[in-house]
Amino acid sequence: MKHSPEWVRISMAAAIELGLKPGKIHGCHCGCINLLQNYPEGCYANCSYCGLARHRPGSAEENTFIRVAWPLFPTDQVAEKIGEQEVTRRHLGGIGRVCIAQVHTPNANDDLVDMTERVRKAAPEVPISALVSANLLNEDWLASIEGAGADIIGIGLDAASEETFRDTRGRGVRGPHTWEKHWDIARRARQRFGAWKVNFHVVVGLGESDAELVDLFYSLVDEEIRAYIFSFNPEPGTTMEDVARAPLQRLRRVQLVKHLIEKRELQRDAIEFDADDGIVHIHAPDEFVQQTIDSGTPFMTDGCPNRAGEVACNRPYGSYRPGEEYRDYPFQPAASDLADVRRQLNSAP
Ligand code: SF4
Ligand code: SF4
Repeated sequence: MKHSPEWVRISMAAAIELGLKPGKIHGCHCGCINLLQNYPEGCYANCSYCGLARHRPGSAEENTFIRVAWPLFPTDQVAEKIGEQEVTRRHLGGIGRVCIAQVHTPNANDDLVDMTERVRKAAPEVPISALVSANLLNEDWLASIEGAGADIIGIGLDAASEETFRDTRGRGVRGPHTWEKHWDIARRARQRFGAWKVNFHVVVGLGESDAELVDLFYSLVDEEIRAYIFSFNPEPGTTMEDVARAPLQRLRRVQLVKHLIEKRELQRDAIEFDADDGIVHIHAPDEFVQQTIDSGTPFMTDGCPNRAGEVACNRPYGSYRPGEEYRDYPFQPAASDLADVRRQLNSAP
């Protein structure tokens, strides 16, 4: 059985970048190499939206999306290719970043440290993010992950409120995750790795309200923890396979408000909500809001940075599948894309 730490899944985009798979990537040269641990049993957790969840029908190996989009390779071969690409791309500043994602299994911590060390040995300078499963960790493991060479900790909080978290990841689905532990590990990691070196992945469309998302964004700015948003995308065979995605109007409004909170110091009382806690209006000068939309930045994929501080990670297919409408843009949106965004912002829900 090909399992971690000897084997690793790699996003198709990264496999193409490293020359492990033939092909070309349209419109994106982000240079982030996204890796994912692989175990025959998939993941021991049971998140209701996830294709790797324990109670999902079929094994992780049979999961078509994971198999197609995340081919499996020997970890040492991937590390060696990363080392080679660091040299080939030296004039571009090397590879943007490597991300190693844990799944929730008994060996995941040991294997994460082992796999991080292999990448670090092959590519001494490459920035490495560890995308962890918080409920497996403690202070000592965070120290080991740092010692192995990671400089950023990503945490899949995913659910924006405690109630949604419990219903989709915790007790509500007989899953191991707890809201408290995720925050505890985030704060410990924030202490150890520094300001803005820790991030929460947050999914729009798991059952949370816009007001809960907004409150989370303000809390994370206060704690100097990044929020990277995804759009819920129903995975066939999961408990949430028939749940509708967030309408694009909602997603665009959340993206815009998040950006204004993080980058333009928008005050909480400038955001107007309807009776269902949905964002309906931003009380700010029109020019201020329009300039922000024109920049395109709020609607671009946001992820861990490269060595120059630019976004490196395009979080492959985190929010949509190839051929679908962009939910976030892994490139600077063109004028025609921004026309779509404006239409979506103002469309009927
Ligand atoms: S812990 Fe992560 S990989 Fe495991 S089921 Fe939950 S979301 Fe999926
Ligand atoms: S934003 Fe990308 S590189 Fe950063 S932790 Fe998430 S998946 Fe990994």
